[in-house]
Amino acid sequence: MPKKLAAGNWKMNGSSASASEIAALLPVLPNVSCQVLLCPPATLVTSMKNWTEGSSLLIGGQDCHANESGAHTGDISAPMLVDAGATHVILGHSERRSDHGETDAMVKAKTMAAHAAGLVAVVCVGETEAERDAGRALDVVGSQIAGSLPDGVTGDNTVIAYEPVWAIGTGRTPTLEQIGEVHDFLREALDQQLGAEGANLSLLYGGSVKPGNASDIFAVANVDGALVGGASLKASDFSGIIKALDAA
Ligand code: PEP
Repeated sequence: MPKKLAAGNWKMNGSSASASEIAALLPVLPNVSCQVLLCPPATLVTSMKNWTEGSSLLIGGQDCHANESGAHTGDISAPMLVDAGATHVILGHSERRSDHGETDAMVKAKTMAAHAAGLVAVVCVGETEAERDAGRALDVVGSQIAGSLPDGVTGDNTVIAYEPVWAIGTGRTPTLEQIGEVHDFLREALDQQLGAEGANLSLLYGGSVKPGNASDIFAVANVDGALVGGASLKASDFSGIIKALDAA
């Protein structure tokens, strides 16, 4: 069975002053049974681990290098994230794919590195607006899944996030029918690629999820949670999304 997961991606936001926002989020956690994950910038992984000691909050990185160590200035490896207190890592986010030219092959290599270090990989896929307009959304996410997932993927070591690029940070979301179409397609594609294990991977939707639209999105079949950007920065907004997922 896929687990319900509310994941927050802080991107390049947050500082030591964010401790108060985390303190405001913690009281919601004992009252929900879904998993809750926050992925702060790497500079805050250990601090966030310390701020949330004794809570069920999971902490993740936003990227990792495919190698364990070496001459890669500015990069962070999967074992380093584990050492800092992370259990998860976002890989192949559309901003990494566009800003850093990450290909499916690179995402696959990073996913292997994450698995080898014991991290859960949150692998992101999603079409651009031009690709959707050209009727290619399913082709694009299908080929991203095929190219980004290595052997050995299970529901325990990998989560898939469907994030249409045009919905990220724009306030625009696909219709519920469009979300359902892609999530049904992804579930089928995972079944074909992974056999019975495909049914165990959580499928998150990401792209302008807010407390006001979360319940409708979580009611769509094969949506097991959300990857949330902007709304994860405010405890009050993220709490609303977590509660909506828990109630779904
Ligand atoms: C994201 O960055 O993964 C994201 C979904 O951002 P937002 O929720 O702000 O659209």
